[in-house]
Amino acid sequence: MLEFIVQSPRNRPDLVEVRYDCQCGCKPRARYERGSDEANFEHCCCGQVHFVGARAEERLKAYLGERSAQGLDAEVGEYSIHALQVKAPWGEPVPVAYALPAMHKKH
Ligand SMILES: [Zn+2]
Ligand SMILES: [Zn+2]
Repeated sequence: MLEFIVQSPRNRPDLVEVRYDCQCGCKPRARYERGSDEANFEHCCCGQVHFVGARAEERLKAYLGERSAQGLDAEVGEYSIHALQVKAPWGEPVPVAYALPAMHKKH
């Protein structure tokens, strides 16, 4: 399981940024804007991906499905998908979904 840090950027109380310290050394981050129907994501260099925002899990699966159809993720093997909710600073739950590859790529 990844441990997420949930914060609003300075002077942007309408945004939440969800980040984590990746085992590869990167600090992937993705933002969600309050009230929006969007989700954003970061695909870490090592192969881990996280989505934050509306329908995060559905979007993550669609994203990985497209990549796999193009043969882009063959080297990392199967992904395991995890979904959770974090609490935005304004009090609402925000969906987060992430995928962990069977084999990580080098940083
Ligand atoms: Zn990484
Ligand atoms: Zn990295």
